Amino acid sequence: MATETAVRIHQAGGVEQMKLEQVEVGEPGGGEIRIRHHACGLNYIDIYHRSGVYPLQLPQTLGMEGAGVIEAVGEGVTHLRVGDRAAYASQPIGAYCTARVMPARSVVRLPDEISFETGAAMMLKGLTAQYLLRRTLPQGGLQAGDQVLFHAAAGGVGLIACQWARALGLQMIATAGSDEKCALVVENGAAVAINYRKEKFPERVREITQGRGVKVVYDSVGADTFEGSLDCLSPFGLMVSFGNASGVVPPVNTGLLAAKGSLYLTRPTLFTHLASREASQAMADDLFAMVVSGKVKIHVSQRYALAEVAQAHRELEARTTVGSGVLLV
Ligand code: NDP
Repeated sequence: MATETAVRIHQAGGVEQMKLEQVEVGEPGGGEIRIRHHACGLNYIDIYHRSGVYPLQLPQTLGMEGAGVIEAVGEGVTHLRVGDRAAYASQPIGAYCTARVMPARSVVRLPDEISFETGAAMMLKGLTAQYLLRRTLPQGGLQAGDQVLFHAAAGGVGLIACQWARALGLQMIATAGSDEKCALVVENGAAVAINYRKEKFPERVREITQGRGVKVVYDSVGADTFEGSLDCLSPFGLMVSFGNASGVVPPVNTGLLAAKGSLYLTRPTLFTHLASREASQAMADDLFAMVVSGKVKIHVSQRYALAEVAQAHRELEARTTVGSGVLLV
């Protein structure tokens, strides 16, 4: 057994709970691989895991996204070989480490055109943008020219979604928490940006859409925006509540969906979409094609060493980051 370095928590709480520890990593069993990381992705979900919003069995290595080289392959794994460049976004948790053994199911080969750093920065966020824009659709689907609202669009998932929406011909109305972030989302494909810390976004969306409302709202901010988001939808519109950066959405009175125009509500998670190897591969192929073609650029705006993980979490929670962040191994 080799000894590897991992960022672990023994109890939920603040950034001080994350400890750099030595852990033993053995050989992969059936259906598993061992990957040596070059980089691991930072995601807002890591904050929910660390702080206890999403409870974990403890102790636990944090992190859900990484890229590196396949070092060993267990029995029954046919789509990966020793020496392959690979990347993943997946459960089980445990990506903040130098090397790990994990199920091969959602690990895919990384195209040569995509660096390890970019791979680690784009899998969880890019596959999320993929399923949101391509698989989470309103009645009748989305057509070029349709208006949608996307909150926190300057973040990791958001900047990828802006560019992907532009490639699909969608008119994305984006929100972000500063004027600089608003400029960035427009540069990356949003049709209009609203600084929702300065302006009331439901009123601005009504103005921009001339009272019609949008077909879909993608809301990862949660408690602070949920009800205002419902006010932005056209009749039969789709509310996609996919995160809780400002706090968990309180229980919903479904009567609101009727009152606001026979709305649809979904609370999806990437991991349902990644349940089969076929779906994981198809979604990854779609994402890789967007990145290799240059239609979606991955903005790696924050880089940290594994030992600087506390700083990385502080900055993500303080809303001072844009695009993606990675831990370099
Ligand atoms: P981001 O880089 O987007 O960071 C979160 C952003 O949320 C911040 O930068 C900030 O942007 C905004 N925000 C609004 N209110 C708050 C608040 N009170 N505290 C902190 N941030 C706030 O993170 P990710 O790209 O990693 O993830 C984006 C969201 O998508 C997260 O909520 C995440 O949980 C969710 N997600 C859900 C998935 C799913 O399948 N359900 C999968 C992947 C991600 P600003 O300053 O512009 O407001």
